[in-house]
Amino acid sequence: MAHIIDGKAFAKQLRLTIGAQVATLKADHDITPGLAVVLVGEDPASQVYVRNKAKQTLEAGMRSFEHRLSANTTEIDLLALITELNGDPSVNGILVQLPLPEQINTEAVLDAVDPDKDVDGFHILNVGRLAIGAEGMVPCTPLGCTMLLKDQLGDLSGKQALVLGRSNIVGKPMAALLLKEHCTVTIAHSRTRQLADECRRADILIAAVGRPQMVKGDWIKPGATVIDVGINRVDGNNGKSRLVGDVDFDSAVEVAGAITPVPGGVGPMTIACLLHNTVTAACRQHGVSRPA
Ligand code: NDP
Repeated sequence: MAHIIDGKAFAKQLRLTIGAQVATLKADHDITPGLAVVLVGEDPASQVYVRNKAKQTLEAGMRSFEHRLSANTTEIDLLALITELNGDPSVNGILVQLPLPEQINTEAVLDAVDPDKDVDGFHILNVGRLAIGAEGMVPCTPLGCTMLLKDQLGDLSGKQALVLGRSNIVGKPMAALLLKEHCTVTIAHSRTRQLADECRRADILIAAVGRPQMVKGDWIKPGATVIDVGINRVDGNNGKSRLVGDVDFDSAVEVAGAITPVPGGVGPMTIACLLHNTVTAACRQHGVSRPA
């Protein structure tokens, strides 16, 4: 039976550490890190995410700036807001909640954010920095997965890792981070042949496909560490919906050495890493080192 990795507890501890770092930055340098979150439109899931981000930012002792724009906002108006936030010294991190309405070019908006304030790590410059192994801003979800893996396994060097999914926000940056940790990395996607066999070779299996319970127990190498990024809403037995991951937890938990549950695994790490990145950005912008 696998060890169940408690991402909720890990994220809580990380937020406490961040809160202590923020207190030190205030006391020693008179710096209060600030995060601006921009939401365009009324997407219900995005509204929940933005509310949680603002709440946790304040709880960590940081400043939170929320900008809610109507669904028919033009790209020009959104770009004007980003220019304003780029120039505001009290804003150290900027996050534009995705998805954006279709009249707005997402790439143009993401690339308008000052790369030093790009706490989501989606600016092309930060994508490039990660690709060459240079210091930059790292996307929150893959960063959270890496923290959980290092906590579970220690040194990742030489391990066989398989990343299932090649999106720009999860799969590709995840693969780059594992490569940086000296894993031997395979990236699998919808055209991969013999997918189950590929998965069975992995000491570390990251599932980020968005297909409910797709990865079965017999796809997993006995003792492997499984990180389930997927968040899928499916119908439950009681007529209500419930969340499941991309891994079939019940069969996987019998084979894996360690596994993240859904919910309570990777999910809580994403916002904690956003706060972590905001502190990183504030420290770099002020030229001070991050408190221990
Ligand atoms: P995308 O839809 O952008 O990417 C999915 C990837 O999975 C693609 O690369 C696709 O391949 C691949 N894929 C799809 N179907 C198959 C298949 N049958 N066999 C093999 N590969 C397949 O998803 P995201 O990366 O944005 O998200 C993945 C999951 O992670 C989702 O469930 C999402 O909700 C969740 N998520 C969770 C977060 C968190 O905070 N925990 C944050 C972000 C995402 P191809 O490229 O060939 O089409």
